[in-house]
Amino acid sequence: MNFIQTRGYDETKPKTVTFSEAILAPIASFGGLYVPEKLPELGEEFLTKHLNSSYKELAKDMLNRFEIDIDSDVIDEALALYDAFDDAKNPVPVVKVKENLYISELYHGPTRAFKDMALQPFGVVLSSIAQKRNENYLILAATSGDTGPAALETFKNRANVQVACLYPNGGTSDVQRLQMVTEDAKNLKVIGINGVFDDAQNALKRLLASEEFKKALKEKSVSLSAANSVNFGRIIFQIVYHIHSYLELVRQGGITMGEKVYLNVPSGNFGNALGGYYAAQMCVPVEKIVISSNENNVLTRLINSGKYDLRDSEVVNTTSPAMDILKSSNIERILFDMFGDVRTRELMESLESQNFYELTADELTKLQECFAADFCNGDEGKAYIKNIFNNENYLMDPHTATCMKSYETCSSPEIKTIAYSTAEWTKFSPVIANALTGEVDAQDIIALESIAKEANLEIPAMVRGLFTKPVVQDTIINKEDIEKEILSFL
Ligand SMILES: *Cc1c(COP(=O)(O)O)cnc(C)c1O
Repeated sequence: MNFIQTRGYDETKPKTVTFSEAILAPIASFGGLYVPEKLPELGEEFLTKHLNSSYKELAKDMLNRFEIDIDSDVIDEALALYDAFDDAKNPVPVVKVKENLYISELYHGPTRAFKDMALQPFGVVLSSIAQKRNENYLILAATSGDTGPAALETFKNRANVQVACLYPNGGTSDVQRLQMVTEDAKNLKVIGINGVFDDAQNALKRLLASEEFKKALKEKSVSLSAANSVNFGRIIFQIVYHIHSYLELVRQGGITMGEKVYLNVPSGNFGNALGGYYAAQMCVPVEKIVISSNENNVLTRLINSGKYDLRDSEVVNTTSPAMDILKSSNIERILFDMFGDVRTRELMESLESQNFYELTADELTKLQECFAADFCNGDEGKAYIKNIFNNENYLMDPHTATCMKSYETCSSPEIKTIAYSTAEWTKFSPVIANALTGEVDAQDIIALESIAKEANLEIPAMVRGLFTKPVVQDTIINKEDIEKEILSFL
């Protein structure tokens, strides 16, 4: 299958590209994105066929239907990484929390957050494409805490790929920082920046666009790529778990085959929700996709008013930092799917030049046929964490907790909800400890201990081990020195 472009075709890039090409250079004409020419039509037949399949069997068949230019043995190797999740037989457990609410846990991989779902197999696929072409790639990542550890973990010691990962020094949780600075491999460089996440992100954007930097890389025979969530190589793996979660509900007797469900997704860059949208187009019976935001609620405002408005918006820091995003990149693929490339280009150019776009009334109606949304602030989130722990004995992280508000306000109780849990409690422990016991500003290790005691849980060995693992990545620099630092690492 070939991939086409969300903002049309500018006559300089190829009109269509293969999956490999879309992975290596994810930005299309006019700054757009690549999307599949046509989604595979799978239907209920596919669901029935896979009712008793393993996660990997389901994933393999779904990927095959996309007819991508990746060898079958590479796909097998990529999917085999799910065997290292907590339960090799079921990497994504779906847990019934109450009568009509199920939680699909996407955090059972090596870095305890849902980024592993896509980045784990993506690392194998990208490295294999690079080897096949006999090319070397530098992956640049800027992280507020979850993408960095997941990217380092997946590319560690992989051939033909090096990673430079920028994080704001002091701007991540202890666990997230330790996950990065204890990663020991020759092809990884972790760089702390004296600054905030935006400084790291802006430095990355500047380097990705800099001809001078690309020239310096070329002299070292290195090309530049990015592993951010606009990459379709990540999105494709995020369709699978939505299909899997639906099948789990059927298997558990929560629904009968064909019954509609809500998919409730804590959203930032909209990769997870987009995976759900594609799954719904392909085969999963979905009543609506419910988008959950935190105080950075641009997506909620878009879905409720038709206006994407950044004119008076600034990113605020919240208790769910992986969702502290204003320019939510993957919504562009929804615009394309619903309104076509001409209109998408018009809307995205308006966003870039005016910091604003507005859908027509008809367009908004169409969007609301598929999506509903609400946002949840930090205090509300903490109250949900405490109440659901006390009443249902289920412990959730602050990102997942944003779903509980929209579950109440956007869904009708007679239709079952699958909400997605995107991080383990160990990753955002100070907020959870605060919610459960009222303690404030605890360091991660203290918060972990108090949650473990309160909830009668073990701190997972891999998390506890981080606190005694040697720090091998100790570079902390000013943002002016990033380029020099990366070039000297290569
Ligand atoms: C990345 C992330 C999200 C947001 O996911 P998107 O696909 O960007 O919408 C939510 N929660 C956690 C814990 C994350 O790491």
